[in-house]
Amino acid sequence: MVVELIAVGTELLLGNIVNTNAAYLSRQCAALGLSMYHQSVVGDNGERLAETLRMALDRSDVVILSGGLGPTQDDLTKETAAKVCGLPLVEDRHSRERIEEYFKNSQFRIITDNNWKQAMVPKGAIVVDNDNGTAPGLIIEKDGKSVILLPGPPNELIPMFEKDIYPYLHKLQPDTISSVMVKVCGLGESYVETQIRDLIDQQTNPTIATYAKTGEVHMRVTAKAADEKEAKKLIKPMVKELKKRFGNNVYTTDEKMTLEETVVNLLKEKGFTLTTAESCTGGLLGARLTNVPGVSEVYKQGFITYSNRAKRKLLDVKKNTLKMYGAVSDKTAKEMAKNGAFITGSDVCVSITGLAGPEGGTPDKPVGLVYIACCCHDRVLVNEFHFKGSRSKIREYAVVRALTLLREAILEEEPRQ
Ligand code: ATP
Repeated sequence: MVVELIAVGTELLLGNIVNTNAAYLSRQCAALGLSMYHQSVVGDNGERLAETLRMALDRSDVVILSGGLGPTQDDLTKETAAKVCGLPLVEDRHSRERIEEYFKNSQFRIITDNNWKQAMVPKGAIVVDNDNGTAPGLIIEKDGKSVILLPGPPNELIPMFEKDIYPYLHKLQPDTISSVMVKVCGLGESYVETQIRDLIDQQTNPTIATYAKTGEVHMRVTAKAADEKEAKKLIKPMVKELKKRFGNNVYTTDEKMTLEETVVNLLKEKGFTLTTAESCTGGLLGARLTNVPGVSEVYKQGFITYSNRAKRKLLDVKKNTLKMYGAVSDKTAKEMAKNGAFITGSDVCVSITGLAGPEGGTPDKPVGLVYIACCCHDRVLVNEFHFKGSRSKIREYAVVRALTLLREAILEEEPRQ
């Protein structure tokens, strides 16, 4: 089964937006075990799109198009696909009702004529509901081939793909593809890659694909087999090998589980309460933790102590510590964590203090220097980091590393009786 992608949009050709849909769809198709040999980007031009689609249909079994399904004149994907497949456009009642419903619940209540254009579909096409916008997705099946049309905005495309397109493509595949995601924290991408280079070089079935995330590396182990049971059997020893190589750095093999969820679950398991004390991340760590439903059971309090005065007043950081070593120092991070735990009566407190930049760096303390400390029952761990990148990247890295350190600190602790 060969699949091909066509991203539609002049904005993509001009470099105004990055083609993240192509990256996402490529990963998904690879996970499904589909072969992909070509990808194209075409502007909002009917003729050139028709030419590209014809060529794609000549050489591939499935063509996925993204973008150009909107209500405006320059949105031509559906019209062009219908023309190339020789199908007339007809109104789809269900889509019309969904558009009415969508506008009823939206802040823009006036439906214009061109909105109805989105209820027109190529005759016989499978209509795929769009839960986050008005343009439905479409699947046209013609002469043993499939043309799949998806809306451009990623917040519409991704949920639609996960809910309806992934299962559709899965069914087209004669083999079963199964995969497990092994998620690692606290190690860099190049280190992880070097540790598994031999496995990647020898890979046939299962395969391993690595994905670098901020402060994390995810490895997808995918196997192709006649049935699910057989695929799982192929995957199991590889996952075991990865766990052996990366030990405690593997925080989950559950695709949906995030690092913060793992940490919250661990705190619950141990019966520990948590406090955060943040400086340069200004509450980002607290925000990530409070994304996890049920965190209130363990999360007591979050301090945002941006100024020295706040560090002194709220966290009792010694005036002398700040004077002698500065706010960005291991000593300050330690005091923040230790005092944060003491003041709130928490089992654990994690603190972050650093220089996110872009200004304010010195040769001694360059931008990206971050200290993260974790106090767990009087035992204080502190780590120094030198993160690279923009202000927001540095802050994101700091949050992930704080979660990683927090996990490390509580992993070995005895649970509360
Ligand atoms: P709409 O229903 O919003 O009109 P559409 O299907 O017509 O969607 P486009 O008009 O082509 O899609 O793109 C709408 C927006 O979607 C773009 O401005 C951009 O933000 C995003 N987008 C489109 N294509 C891509 C892509 N390939 N990768 C990432 N984002 C994209």
